[in-house]
Amino acid sequence: MSEAEHNGVIYFNLATDCEATDPALNDPGLGERATRGVVGVLEENGWRGTFFVIPTDLEAHPGMYNELREAGHEVGLHLHPAAQGYGPFFGIHGPDMQREILAEAVDRFAQVMGDRPSGLCMGYGSANDHTYALLVEAGFTHGMCSVPGRILPECASVWAGAPLFMHYAHRYNRVLAGDLDFVEIPATIDWESRMWGGKHPQDLRVELVDAKNHFYTIEKSVRRQIAEQVPVKAIRTVTHNIFEYSDPADFRRQTLEGIITHYKHIVADEGFQTAGATVAELADLYRSKVPQQETELTLDNRGYLRADDETEE
Ligand SMILES: [Zn+2]
Repeated sequence: MSEAEHNGVIYFNLATDCEATDPALNDPGLGERATRGVVGVLEENGWRGTFFVIPTDLEAHPGMYNELREAGHEVGLHLHPAAQGYGPFFGIHGPDMQREILAEAVDRFAQVMGDRPSGLCMGYGSANDHTYALLVEAGFTHGMCSVPGRILPECASVWAGAPLFMHYAHRYNRVLAGDLDFVEIPATIDWESRMWGGKHPQDLRVELVDAKNHFYTIEKSVRRQIAEQVPVKAIRTVTHNIFEYSDPADFRRQTLEGIITHYKHIVADEGFQTAGATVAELADLYRSKVPQQETELTLDNRGYLRADDETEE
């Protein structure tokens, strides 16, 4: 695809967090049916998607995840420290413990998939200011830790003010864009909404609301990305492999199909092209368009101006 053609595309990504073997659920059979159902919906559209998988799900279905990768889907790591015998929230730990949990998960991924993962989705978006630099150290190049606007200190997941769209992560501050070689690709959210008692914005996770509610989030995000001339425009949907996606009568599956229909109509109405992409493909595209730059913060002192200052000039 040429540069000009890329500029006219608003991509669609679906990332499925695969965690059916997490101790909270532990239903590997459901995990397999759900994952295969999601693949079916993607492939009906001619698209490939992203599957972020916790090590125990990989170990339960090694053949399926290798098969998915051979078919062009992306298989990355999903981190749930509880499934590795730690407490549930990554972001409460210091750098040594974070490094240990990551290294263990990466090794177990490599045992099943034959190489180390480059994409990651952080469970509960639980991270602190050590996390991004440690992800890069562990070999990750892209993924999703942030949930812009979320304020959930009880999960060590606080992202108030974080960027809404793709950006390079900052090595010292998780809510700033920076110059780390890690492309953070947040899920699509409605930045004006609040759910969960005011702690979480409505995001494009399939199971959160119905397709009608998702319509407004998709339309709003598409229009803002066009208005702000975001370099790589995408609608990012997320879900989990814990619903009966292989059943065409399942409500979640119908919601996902509704999201896709809405995406296609909204993007066409705005005069753009549609295309499916993995998170890895979006990250590569972002790297090809946006150079890494150190972030500079300058003090906004416009409000310091006094009447005397005007006359001195
Ligand atoms: Zn998860």
